[in-house]
Amino acid sequence: MEEKAFRRSYESFQDAIKQFASCMDDYLFVFDLKKDCYYISSAAAERFRMPSNEFSNASEVLKEFVCSDDYLMLSNDLANLTSGKKQTHNLRYRWIGKDGSPIWINCRGIVVNDQDSRPEFMIGCVNEIGVRQIADNVSGLLGESTFRNRIQRFQKSFPKGFILRMGIDDFRDINEKFGTEYGDIILRIVAECIEHSLLPGQQAYRMVADEFVVADFLGGSGSDAEKLYRRICSEIEKKIEERHYESVYTISGGIITSIDMTDLDYTDITKISHFALGEAKLRGKNQVYLFRSEDYSRFLRKRVLLRALREAVANDFCGFELYFQPIMKTGSGELFAAEALLRFCIYDTEFVSPAEFIPILEESGLIIPVGKWILHNAMAMCQECQKQCPDFKISINLSYIQIIKSAILTEITSSIASATLQPSSIIMELTESGHLENTPAIQNVWNRLKEHGVNIAIDDFGTGYSNLQNIGTLMPHIVKLDRSFTLKALQNTYEYQLMINIIQMVHSLGLQVCVEGVETTDELEKISALGPDFIQGFYYSKPCPKDEFIGKFLS
Ligand code: C2E
Ligand code: MG
Ligand code: MG
Repeated sequence: MEEKAFRRSYESFQDAIKQFASCMDDYLFVFDLKKDCYYISSAAAERFRMPSNEFSNASEVLKEFVCSDDYLMLSNDLANLTSGKKQTHNLRYRWIGKDGSPIWINCRGIVVNDQDSRPEFMIGCVNEIGVRQIADNVSGLLGESTFRNRIQRFQKSFPKGFILRMGIDDFRDINEKFGTEYGDIILRIVAECIEHSLLPGQQAYRMVADEFVVADFLGGSGSDAEKLYRRICSEIEKKIEERHYESVYTISGGIITSIDMTDLDYTDITKISHFALGEAKLRGKNQVYLFRSEDYSRFLRKRVLLRALREAVANDFCGFELYFQPIMKTGSGELFAAEALLRFCIYDTEFVSPAEFIPILEESGLIIPVGKWILHNAMAMCQECQKQCPDFKISINLSYIQIIKSAILTEITSSIASATLQPSSIIMELTESGHLENTPAIQNVWNRLKEHGVNIAIDDFGTGYSNLQNIGTLMPHIVKLDRSFTLKALQNTYEYQLMINIIQMVHSLGLQVCVEGVETTDELEKISALGPDFIQGFYYSKPCPKDEFIGKFLS
């Protein structure tokens, strides 16, 4: 008799829950109806907005994690159970997750009476009935929620191991070309290849869409993860061959190790693991990338910059400024033109280098509105300067994105007209980056600008793609030799000789040369001796704001 009473105590139910909880995804609970105390599997306290998995004053505390719309229904049911009107509880309603989102649950329980047949406890089980996917029927693998549970169970303290996240490259194309049923077959094949390649202790999960994860917390290293990735790839290749190449696909993989996960929660682990997979895809797909925190910092920095650039554009270009650097005639040292150079200031204090933010403007397409703003402001500056120096020209950098993705020709000609300038006062600088010669759209703009009377300059000549032959085909008005070329020419005789020959060749075609990046008197003398038409560099001035430029060079 005594033993029976003991078995039915609150503590004995708790003990049983502790023992069973680790073998199940559902949550077991005991509710002491007389003392208003509640105990539930510890995993519930990680998932739902409850103070802990054990609390008193339960009917009040329930309000904290039961959706307010559902609370009345629940408390009516509890009243019936406590008064003995009902012996079983079976309700579907919503609890509130740790992040505040509602989660559908089904709570079932039975009442256990005391020796006097009065309701004493309710014991039972809560299970999630929403989209929480335990396993995936398409791939046959465990699902994301199981993976999440596993990660959360480590409570941020991870043994040595890794997470390899994989995605099928261009999976959307497969679905579009062959249909989603075929897509499902590919998912199953990839899942099989992954399972075949696993070593003991490694577990695979299917995540959303075409993504899979393998977790290894039994000592696997980054290079073990790479080896695993390669085994999976070769399994996939075999399958493609077996199926006579009816479709050919590849996978990319991103690896993070326990060291990268130190102190991170599931959400942050997911972020860096997604980043790692994203990097593999960005670097050309069909490859694996091992997480590096420097890359991630760069990625975050880029995101911050992109947000700041977007805000600046939306906020009437606040944060952008145009600086101007003089371009002087060689020999006389007279002012010929100014190059307009974009500046961007973040948090009102930090100047960001154009080398950092121009590519972001280009990738995001923001270079199009910003480019219009540059045209408008540079031409207004030119108009102002011509009041004192009628021959003054303005040199404006143009990105190939502006040419390919906007009506740049109209933009340039209408800006010239509204600033009442002569087209010959304008120099448009285009970087010769391999796009120039081969893209008809660019060729067309190039030719139309020349027809309109605008001067054209090839910028950054001497870096990367430079091709002497292109100068003959493109026939710009000015060739600008990049500072990196100038530096080399000043340091070594071969490059110096090359510069002499290039300048001669450009002249022989009837075109002009501007040498960029001259900083000292000594450099000025050496470069002037080669007879370029123009010189630009810190020797004359660093780029500066408009008023400073006017004060220095036009007053
Ligand atoms: P770029 O068009 O070749 O501009 C010349 C760059 O060389 C400028 O860098 C200028 O400050 C720098 N420079 C000039 N003389 C010297 C010198 O003597 N010594 C040194 N160390 N540097 C010198 P900045 O302003 O940082 O611009 C870098 C690049 O960013 C530009 O190269 C251009 O490609 C791009 N950029 C700048 N402004 C714009 C813009 O408004 N639109 C577009 N599309 N690109 C721009
Ligand atoms: Mg330039
Ligand atoms: Mg340049």
